[in-house]
Amino acid sequence: MRIAIIGAGAAGIVAAITAKRLNNDLHIDMFDANKAIGKKILASGNGRCNISNTQVSAANYIGEDSSFVEYALKNFDFKAFEKFCKSIGLLLDIKETNKVYPLSNEAKSVVNLLSLTVSNLGINVFTESLITSIEKIDNKFNLKTADNDYKNYDRILISNGLAAAPQLNANESGLEFAEHFDHSINPTYPSLVGLQTDVTYHSRMQGVKKECNVSLYIDGKLESEIYGDVLFTKYGVSGFAVLDISQLAAQALSLYQGVKLSVNFFPKVNRADLANQIQSLFKALPEVKAADLLIGMLSNKLPSVLLDICKIHQDTKAADINSKQIKALSFQLNSWKFKVTDTQGFKHAEVSGGGVRTAEVNNKTYESKKCNGLYFAGEVLDIVGHRGGFNLQFAWASGYAVGQVISKK
Ligand SMILES: Cc1cc2nc3c(=O)[nH]c(=O)nc-3n(C[C@H](O)[C@H](O)[C@H](O)COP(=O)(O)OP(=O)(O)OC[C@H]3O[C@@H](n4cnc5c(N)ncnc54)[C@H](O)[C@@H]3O)c2cc1C
Repeated sequence: MRIAIIGAGAAGIVAAITAKRLNNDLHIDMFDANKAIGKKILASGNGRCNISNTQVSAANYIGEDSSFVEYALKNFDFKAFEKFCKSIGLLLDIKETNKVYPLSNEAKSVVNLLSLTVSNLGINVFTESLITSIEKIDNKFNLKTADNDYKNYDRILISNGLAAAPQLNANESGLEFAEHFDHSINPTYPSLVGLQTDVTYHSRMQGVKKECNVSLYIDGKLESEIYGDVLFTKYGVSGFAVLDISQLAAQALSLYQGVKLSVNFFPKVNRADLANQIQSLFKALPEVKAADLLIGMLSNKLPSVLLDICKIHQDTKAADINSKQIKALSFQLNSWKFKVTDTQGFKHAEVSGGGVRTAEVNNKTYESKKCNGLYFAGEVLDIVGHRGGFNLQFAWASGYAVGQVISKK
């Protein structure tokens, strides 16, 4: 039996290894547009590769039907993943946060060991081979690249991801292939990405980083609240809390909904207590400028922006700030609002949301419900995970599910 795998990322590689181990008679050709396999794995986790998470469930995923992931995650749970890693010689480091990294702390070890296994199993790898079309004629699939035709495959796996990180050859050709076989697509959007905001003072806040509470409002309704790092940038906001919240924000933007963020710089202190703290600070040193005193509780760059927003002159002495102005300052610090205008785009996103509609794919076999012999795995499907190893875990698990199925005669 001849099998073609389009895309040698996490999903495609695990599918190939699993299938070949279960049925050594298979002829497997794996194609990738890049010069080497596993490029995105290499870039993951800042080169450290947050490879998985010990606590994975459907609740960690977003998509039209996130319960689609349940079977694959159970079929290839963390224990099964750990066993797979051991089988290729890869040892893992499980952190207290449940995030999992290679023990070597290098994504390179993951890719090297996967490549070695692929090669030892006799899986054919065609790099720098961007597939441009797939046709099905008389129950056989034929593929084309710009230079070559590859013919007579019994089964095809589309595991070529989506558009996040186009600098790594990421693209949406998988969606074109899916549409060619009558599949429908949910709109794609950059996810785990910085957010652009509409304020004029970005450059003055640039570089400020603080643990804050971030609330996301979609069409005026509170949708999510996250505590964590917020980094102010020249375009808007980033940092872990923003990346996490970006998933819902970007999805809402793709649906043309109104998106706002409210950042609380002092989530552990209520507004009245914060006002009291500012007041005592000002009372203690009344002759000092408020802008200078506020540096005692805020990052250097914040006080001047804060005073401007609260319409207080930069040279005002602490003694001259009245109680109404103090209330305004504490209100602003507790709920600093930004309108989100856009994301930083696919180039800066870790993953892509949207994709091939899961309703048209079997959730156990990952075979297309529209075309026999056609399979999908990984990011190309309308499933996107939270930050923390969940995206790679879905890629491994869906690849494993496909590998088990395509190995059978
Ligand atoms: C910078 C960055 C950091 C990340 N960090 C993490 C992390 O720490 N933890 C985590 O869980 N997730 C992380 N992710 C996300 C994770 O890497 C992806 O979700 C996962 O790799 C998707 O796997 P995949 O196999 O579905 O697709 P991909 O890994 O995208 O593989 C698809 C492959 O298909 C190839 N391809 C595309 N089109 C064609 C075509 N027409 N013909 C031939 N080949 C084609 C591409 O070159 C690519 O190699 C990160 C992503 C990025 C960009």
